[in-house]
Amino acid sequence: MAIRAPEQTAPQPVVEERLSGVVASASAALRPLYLVDGQLMPLYQTIADCPSCSLARTRSKTVPGSGPMTAALMLIGEGPGQREDELGLPFVGRSGQFLDELLAAIDFKRGDVYVTNIVKCRPPGNRDPKPEEIAACSDYLEQQIALVNPRVIATLGRFSMARWFPGDRISKIHGQVKQVDGRQVIPMYHPAAALRNGSLRDVIHHDFAKIPALLAGQPLAPPEGSLLPKPTFDVSPTPPAGGPMLSAPPQSIRTEQIIEKEPESIFDRPGPLPGQEPLL
Ligand code: URA
Repeated sequence: MAIRAPEQTAPQPVVEERLSGVVASASAALRPLYLVDGQLMPLYQTIADCPSCSLARTRSKTVPGSGPMTAALMLIGEGPGQREDELGLPFVGRSGQFLDELLAAIDFKRGDVYVTNIVKCRPPGNRDPKPEEIAACSDYLEQQIALVNPRVIATLGRFSMARWFPGDRISKIHGQVKQVDGRQVIPMYHPAAALRNGSLRDVIHHDFAKIPALLAGQPLAPPEGSLLPKPTFDVSPTPPAGGPMLSAPPQSIRTEQIIEKEPESIFDRPGPLPGQEPLL
């Protein structure tokens, strides 16, 4: 069913409700995430029918992504977990709840950003996605990036990071921005990593706090230890949206000192504890 935004002066993109049966069973808070811009719909339908890897045999629902075509910020995680697989939406479990908290801290709502994953179907048991599964899904992500055309991409976790930063370690390069094809790509820890290791919470918050300045096109401080000259900062009395200009994380949250090894899997996404309802 096509739904048009009510009473707009400028023409608004057509959005469509997908998976209407699922929408009906989802909580009211999640329903807006099922609204899909008409231009994304053919891609979502292709993904829904995708037979390209073995995840097609075990998935309940494909999880193409959520958010508006107009989003300037795209967040890319690893792959759907159990709750995401049930609902067909990305980041709606415990990691998603923390992601919402991270976004709220920089004055963003979930509906402001485009969220997707490196693989669109749940790896059984929340195992790591395999290289052939990532390869099979790669073109879908490429198309999403082309259609949404975000100014900033934040990768969440090792697997999406590897697309732009192959061979790098997340503990070393998180929060450091790379300019690619006219966009800024910033690698971040996966929110699930903070659920597992509480000392990463501040690190992720600190990295997220860089996003408003990136979206505003302002320069960031060079990484700690960089030999490059420091960029000129905007020292106007009004701090950029999202807080003051960023610098190296405080000593207390320097990850090199905290993280002795890479997280084994971002699908450290702990499922609900026994007797506990999934969040959202
Ligand atoms: N973790 C992810 O990487 N993606 C999701 O959609 C949920 C959890």
